[in-house]
Amino acid sequence: MSRIAYVNGRYLPLRDAAVNVEDRGYQFSDGVYEVCEVRAGQLIDERRHLDRLAYSLKELRIAMPMTPGALGVILREVVRRNRVHWGIVYLQVTRGVSRRDHAFPPPGTRPSLVVTARNLDLAHSERMAAEGIAVITLPDNRWERVDIKSVSLLPNVLAKQAAREQGAREAWFVDKDGRVTEGSSSNAWIVTGDGKVITRHVDHGILKGITRTVLIDVIAAQGLALEERAFTVDESYRAREAFVTSASQIVMPVVRIDGRSVGNGAPGLVATALRREFHRFTETA
Ligand code: PLP
Repeated sequence: MSRIAYVNGRYLPLRDAAVNVEDRGYQFSDGVYEVCEVRAGQLIDERRHLDRLAYSLKELRIAMPMTPGALGVILREVVRRNRVHWGIVYLQVTRGVSRRDHAFPPPGTRPSLVVTARNLDLAHSERMAAEGIAVITLPDNRWERVDIKSVSLLPNVLAKQAAREQGAREAWFVDKDGRVTEGSSSNAWIVTGDGKVITRHVDHGILKGITRTVLIDVIAAQGLALEERAFTVDESYRAREAFVTSASQIVMPVVRIDGRSVGNGAPGLVATALRREFHRFTETA
């Protein structure tokens, strides 16, 4: 079965799905994206993802390409046409096609919209969660507005590659004061020796993950103590547990940081429980 992509009003086989070379996403990374989990063929937390999309677009002064309701119809259609059972749907909006010039294109230039979807290997994800993953840390060299889910991801790409080359699955960015901001494609969390769950506060310095937002409800329901604050790399080395969150990984236990074992070196009880409970707190349409 050929995969299908939606490109500016048309559903096309992936091999025929193409964007104009003067699309501003291609020329300038002038666009934003969303990744939404698909579970049992249903979109998870569509409303929250479309709210964040609207926020990213507003911050960059790109028009919403259509209403959230119309976007939802396309997302579901792409999921259906690709027969996604468990996986992700990806949506990208750029400032559109215009002769290359850094300044904004003429008024009326239509934003471009691309949507793709694919299955992921749930069994593989569960195996990884049972084993836990390794992370490395490296300096956060991104711009100051990473709260915007921009397609401009070069530092994230280089960080992820550095992780892979060191046998790790994720890289944690560290600010100039030695504090962890977030992962290259996930939010970062630790559980302290006295059982507090810590994740960095939201401001312009991290992406406000949808998984992070939902997990805060799960943490409250479990009666766990939560602190939204920065934590240092050193604190993470001494943590009882660590984990990362994202739409495609849900809650993924971290068992090594920079080659040092976290806790007893196995996935923690808190991370495992939060992963198990997570979908009781998500929204499905
Ligand atoms: N932080 C970054 C830099 C990301 O790229 C992502 C997801 O891709 C996240 C955090 C987690 O966000 P979400 O839970 O909405 O997937």
